Amino acid sequence: MKTVYFDNSATTRTDPAVVEAMLPYFSEQYGNASSIYSLGRESRKAVEHAREQVAGALGCMPQEIYFTSGGSESDNTAIRGIAWAKKDKGNHIITSAIEHPAVLETCRQLEKEGFRVTYLPVDPDGVVDLDALKAAITPRTTLITIMYANNEIGTIQPVDEIGAIAREHGVIFHTDAVQAVGNVAIDVNASHIDSLSLSAHKFYGPKGIGALYVRKGVPFQRFMQGGHQERNKRAGTENVPAIVGLGKAIEMAYEDLEVHNAHVKALRDYYVAQVEEKIPYIKRNGHPEKRLPGNSNISFRFIEGEGLLLNLDLKGICASSGSACTSGSLDPSHVLMAIGLPHEIAHGSLRISIGKNNTKEEVDYLVENLVEIVNRLREMSPLWEDFIEEGK
Ligand SMILES: *Cc1c(COP(=O)(O)O)cnc(C)c1O
Repeated sequence: MKTVYFDNSATTRTDPAVVEAMLPYFSEQYGNASSIYSLGRESRKAVEHAREQVAGALGCMPQEIYFTSGGSESDNTAIRGIAWAKKDKGNHIITSAIEHPAVLETCRQLEKEGFRVTYLPVDPDGVVDLDALKAAITPRTTLITIMYANNEIGTIQPVDEIGAIAREHGVIFHTDAVQAVGNVAIDVNASHIDSLSLSAHKFYGPKGIGALYVRKGVPFQRFMQGGHQERNKRAGTENVPAIVGLGKAIEMAYEDLEVHNAHVKALRDYYVAQVEEKIPYIKRNGHPEKRLPGNSNISFRFIEGEGLLLNLDLKGICASSGSACTSGSLDPSHVLMAIGLPHEIAHGSLRISIGKNNTKEEVDYLVENLVEIVNRLREMSPLWEDFIEEGK
């Protein structure tokens, strides 16, 4: 059976041009980027070229980019590293209730280590409350960490306003931009972003490679002890092929940003319109306009997301119910709880994340199957039966 992939927020297929750019660095160009002979210098050149590609996409200087193993490591490094480096000034961190676990769990760990963390609420569209943010800042606040765009419901935060508030109060602003990079035009200076995480596998690059941007002059402690790689900020022999792939992928993403966005947004809007026309008793989640172009999150009342996913899988369709990172747990997603969805509605949510390789035919196939599956699951649902009885 054909695989129809609608889970591009979980990961993407590495672009063939990215794979091609990486290949020589597994074979002929295998030198250690820290070695002084020419084989090593070739690797160093490739790493520094990738650093320029990443800096170009974010509007920062290459020296402000550190390569890591991905989004999770970048978040850990930034949040732990900045919090500890600023410990003399204060121990208060502000974040939001809808962050990725890489941020939330890092904050929870810091609480165990003596830091105080404020988890800001969000409105029903998933937007962080800016008044609550201002009110939460104290003279002991050293770091605000709020995501750029949410991985489950797609809402894009008012990053410029958050950056301005942080700047005004002399607080460092980190943003987990793992879902935004490759989908949204980013300018770290215009948005007053001091620190930012990104991950290649979310924009058609390889898995296990990411980057952390940290503004020059912002102190942070290294996360891992070892060699002096990455200007003494990230130990370990550079993953040259993956770094080359990251550089190529980010360059491609921003070369084609408008074309890519127009394509995924048109397919997403078509999908949502089809679902609204063909399936009653649904709820769209996330901000209606300020959202990632390819993301749709819809709750189908009276059914379970897990049942939906299993039935879609039988048709070769890959999608997600809430967060890929927390599936396997029976609790409804913390993001859907934070936007105020009742448990039973949160449980029936389906995230479709459309990517550049998807086609209209695939969306038609998805909708056709979804209509059939939702109807069938509802027929079997006691909640649906009660609802119909009440209506009579
Ligand atoms: C995927 C993701 C991460 C984790 O990135 P990895 O590279 O998989 O570690 C962090 N934050 C957000 C918002 C994500 O979507």
